[in-house]
Amino acid sequence: MSRAFNFSAGPATLPESVLRQAQDEMLEWRGSGASIVEHSHRGPEFIQVAAEAEADLRTLMSIPEDYAVLFLSGGATTQQALIPLNFAAAGQTADYVVTGHWGKTAIKQAKPYVAVNTVASSEAGGFRDIPARGEWQLSKDAAYVHITANETIHGVEFRDTPDTGDVPLVADFSSSIASEPVDVSKYGVIYAGAQKNLGPVGITVVIVRRDLLERAGQNRADIFNYASHLKGESMLNTPPTWNWYMLGLNMKWMLAEGGVAEFARRNAEKAALLYSVIDGSGGYYRNEVAAAVRSRMNVPFFLHDEALDKPFLSEAKAAGLMALKGHRALGGMRASIYNAMPVEGVKALADFMKDFQQRHG
Ligand code: PMP
Repeated sequence: MSRAFNFSAGPATLPESVLRQAQDEMLEWRGSGASIVEHSHRGPEFIQVAAEAEADLRTLMSIPEDYAVLFLSGGATTQQALIPLNFAAAGQTADYVVTGHWGKTAIKQAKPYVAVNTVASSEAGGFRDIPARGEWQLSKDAAYVHITANETIHGVEFRDTPDTGDVPLVADFSSSIASEPVDVSKYGVIYAGAQKNLGPVGITVVIVRRDLLERAGQNRADIFNYASHLKGESMLNTPPTWNWYMLGLNMKWMLAEGGVAEFARRNAEKAALLYSVIDGSGGYYRNEVAAAVRSRMNVPFFLHDEALDKPFLSEAKAAGLMALKGHRALGGMRASIYNAMPVEGVKALADFMKDFQQRHG
């Protein structure tokens, strides 16, 4: 077997021990006569798996009791449509801060349901910065303010939680959830697809302050109603049980490794190493994001000559470093270095980059 260091932006690398445990338990889950993926979601086996995953996520992220946790399908994109449906009246204003591609998709999904007010955007500057909070022109009666905590493609990350006063802050944490300690109580809603930092694709976590679930929202089918999902314990319909189980294994792994404080330490070390190679390359490699908001999770970078992209990718692959091609919207390269990417993987990439520069300088 030759597992590479996988820098994919998502679905992304998972800890080998988690994959091995899933492999061990694949045919039969703990003497229960069947795989967990073959058990009813209403049976005691899966109910235990689901409850443990939630309890472990709550411990990991220090989620307060007045917050509900939902495990849904549909990905982050579906939540981007459900958020206005659940938390805003039809046509009510909702404020959006756009710091990259995913802020724009959030607006696209919300537009049929709310009057979107883009209160700040860094698009004119190519999404290389985050407009200062002081420059945001918040609406008077906004239902909520939406931000993207970490922009996966542009590599731009909020390093502080912006203060939006009494207006609930809704944050897309798809690519940075549980990567460092976060004060959940500063948010109205945190949502994230699992496929970067929490586990496999196919399950989405929505952490919501319970009082917000009392909002009437808009006319919508029951399956689009977060309050109904809570009442039904995220089992209004058949949930993605395998993905939920895998997420649970990953939560246990993160807790055993030392929790979010330890991952914050590792993530800072990994990011600092990679940016130092880029910045120290004399322009051979380039990342143009403002230093204060550079992402610790996704590091987009460009080689000084596009003609080097192909050899860079093929030589990296031969060196056991995979999935470094940048998103098609930006081109260039991108190294996604989520929680499950070990420090050794980033060291190997840093060494490879220095070596490549020497050989192709
Ligand atoms: N938001 C962010 C920040 C993302 O990175 C992604 C996926 N890359 C999405 C939303 C969309 O997620 P999904 O594909 O799970 O709908």
